[in-house]
Amino acid sequence: TKLVIAIDGFSSCGKSTMAKDIAKRMEYIYVDTGAMYRAVTLYAIRHQMILEDEVSKEALVQDLDKIVITFQYDENSKSNETYLNGENVENEIRQLEVSNSVSLIAAIAEVRHHLVRLQQVFGNDSGVVMDGRDIGTVVFPNADLKIFMTADPMIRAKRRFDELTEKGEMVSLEAILANVEKRDHIDQTRDESPLVKADDAIVLDNSHLTPKEQTALVMQWIED
Ligand code: C5P
Repeated sequence: TKLVIAIDGFSSCGKSTMAKDIAKRMEYIYVDTGAMYRAVTLYAIRHQMILEDEVSKEALVQDLDKIVITFQYDENSKSNETYLNGENVENEIRQLEVSNSVSLIAAIAEVRHHLVRLQQVFGNDSGVVMDGRDIGTVVFPNADLKIFMTADPMIRAKRRFDELTEKGEMVSLEAILANVEKRDHIDQTRDESPLVKADDAIVLDNSHLTPKEQTALVMQWIED
């Protein structure tokens, strides 16, 4: 049988690294729901819908049907890349400018309803590993396995810092730590499907786990 595996948790916990790894081993599809919120955010930035910390909500909600998000496998990166209206935006959506606004966009109920509907289609009849903030609580409340990931905020910031510096981005560890903590705060306190652990989710704190140890643990849970 094909399973639905839901992975939720705090920002920059390595959810996507793990989800990808599990999807590959299980030969399931992997869906990065954060990339979908990021793509909507990039659209809003490009259309001047975000000023300071204010979003032109009505304009964005009106445009939701014009924002087409797709994923396409890339041979070089060996993973799915995100497309916004046909344009590859995989790199752009990872930049700090998008990270700094994405939680504001993700707090808009209409944006969430729109994206949740799209996400549910992915899980219809195939094995899927999906990561995000509300997968086990809202998108797939009946998921076969739910994992809630967490790690020490400073360890998370350091990992993200290493990742971005490696790509040549000029960032400071302080700015990343501030971003991670800000996003966690907004995600946990928003009205619409806030970030919470599902009652039946297993907590995975990976502060002191290598990716390999973590995958081994999760593969064990899948087998059980
Ligand atoms: O997973 P990632 O960090 O790329 O997600 C970016 C942001 O999108 C999160 O900080 C959160 O605000 C939002 N998000 C969400 N629900 C999801 C996935 C992401 O609210 N299912």
